[in-house]
Amino acid sequence: MDLVVILGDQLTPDIAALRASNAASAIVLMAEVGTETTYAWHHKQKLVLVLSAMRHFADELRGLGWTVDYVELTDPDNSQSLDGEVARAARRHGATRILATEAAEWRVRELQRGWSAHTGLPVDIAQDDRFIASHAMFDTWADGRREWTMEFFYREMRRQTGLLLDGGGQPLGGRWNFDSENRKPARPDLFMPKPLSFAPDARTQGVIDLVNARFADNPGRLERFGYAVTRRDAEQAQAHFLSAMLPRFGDYQDAMLTGAETLYHSVLSPYINLGLLDPLALCRAAEAEYLSGAAPLNSVEGFIRQIIGWREYVRGVYWHEMPGYRDRNALEARRDLPWFYWDGQTDMNCLRQTIGQTLETAYAHHIQRLMITGNFAMLAGIDPFQVHEWYLAIYIDAFEWVELPNTLGMSQFGDGGLLGSKPYAASANYISGMSDYCQGCRFNPRQRHGADACPFNALYWDFLVRNRDRFSANPRLKRSYMVWDRFDPDEQAATRAHAAGVLLALEAVAARRPDR
Ligand code: FAD
Ligand code: SF4
Repeated sequence: MDLVVILGDQLTPDIAALRASNAASAIVLMAEVGTETTYAWHHKQKLVLVLSAMRHFADELRGLGWTVDYVELTDPDNSQSLDGEVARAARRHGATRILATEAAEWRVRELQRGWSAHTGLPVDIAQDDRFIASHAMFDTWADGRREWTMEFFYREMRRQTGLLLDGGGQPLGGRWNFDSENRKPARPDLFMPKPLSFAPDARTQGVIDLVNARFADNPGRLERFGYAVTRRDAEQAQAHFLSAMLPRFGDYQDAMLTGAETLYHSVLSPYINLGLLDPLALCRAAEAEYLSGAAPLNSVEGFIRQIIGWREYVRGVYWHEMPGYRDRNALEARRDLPWFYWDGQTDMNCLRQTIGQTLETAYAHHIQRLMITGNFAMLAGIDPFQVHEWYLAIYIDAFEWVELPNTLGMSQFGDGGLLGSKPYAASANYISGMSDYCQGCRFNPRQRHGADACPFNALYWDFLVRNRDRFSANPRLKRSYMVWDRFDPDEQAATRAHAAGVLLALEAVAARRPDR
């Protein structure tokens, strides 16, 4: 008898471990365990999404003829650890072999390595071929070059998948990348379609009650929970995105607008990461929208790049660099994370809006994550590990393999430039250009010092000056250093003094952080 172990982000009916067995001679084990619900201080909506999607997936598998042994969190016999549940189930069913698909996260992959010793049974771990690039493909690509650039990796992925290529293997439209067309600021009068929202069914409501009772102190609110928890609903969300949002996805990809929480973004990452949607099939569906004339190339190429480019690339970097990657801190940033990241109570409107919507919905789009919360943390010299803990906890789509490289690498420059050649540092100038947040803010985005000065400005210059040795030769930052050097000494001193005051105030806020 095979025991096939399915993890919470492996909700795919033809996942490798299921393909390697058959419904007639296997028991599928799915277990909700305490260690998985507490390794991060998860947003309540994330807990509901994962647990409810797991429960619905167990039904889906039963409908396909599999026998599923599902252990709920509140089962009195639950050992509350994955190891414990695998061993218990192996004994319960007299298993002769354990099958699994490799875990996406390092932490859980390490557990899988111990299962054979733990149970005394042979354990077969299959590669997760829902990812388009295998570990071997990424390692071959990465080990053969001095510098890693996502853009070149992405071109390999286009060639491998054939997406958006003509018959001669050349990119449609004559270019690989249309990013330069994707930086329009949004206007409030744009027609803004919303992603589909799904009313909780009885099963999801049961999980909401469980989370309210058991995780009452966790961050986030549940009132607006409307994520899809079944494949059918996730597919509906995908279809809605393709028809209603994809055509303008590119144009407004970098824009931020008060009250427009998702703009033209897909909000499909939670479903892709859990296995409810297939990333390659989604890209082919997006490509079909271009080929039929329903969506322009800048949107479709931009969307596909995020998935076969960035998503696959960060996974490759994660597995190539772990386990040491998590502890990197190239800029030696040591400050504690200010408490307002957990409750949104700050006068800085851009941060208040972004964190506020995150607490409400567990979602913020890429530029909010990168250029508001991430940018501020990097400018303020916050310890990247604490920043990572926040992102891992608070977002609906957060799993370490994708969150960590994005946070520690892309947003904090903690890996010293492995993921991006330049730090994503910006002053209020960028934020006021790409959003309307500054219009509703008590701070002045044009001032560098003084009582009303926007804190991003002084922190931006202070960050550049603090890290001059590292960044002054970077061609993409040279201009900023030239601008700083042209300020007169009094202006420089006042700006740095203002930054010192902001940092001191932040330390006081961080110190008020309650124990959790
Ligand atoms: P869209 O804008 O509609 O993009 C389409 C899809 O592309 C996404 O669904 C996602 O699957 C993929 N994608 C886009 N950008 C990236 C990226 N940089 N890395 C990987 N995939 C990408 N993404 C996560 O899935 N989980 C995380 O925990 C996560 N943490 C992040 C932390 C920081 C600091 C930053 C800057 C980015 C993070 N991202 C993470 C990447 C990105 O922000 C989200 O994938 C995206 O915002 C999800 O929303 P969406 O589905 O509306 O994306
Ligand atoms: Fe953010 Fe500064 Fe603009 Fe206020 S003025 S919204 S703090 S960038």
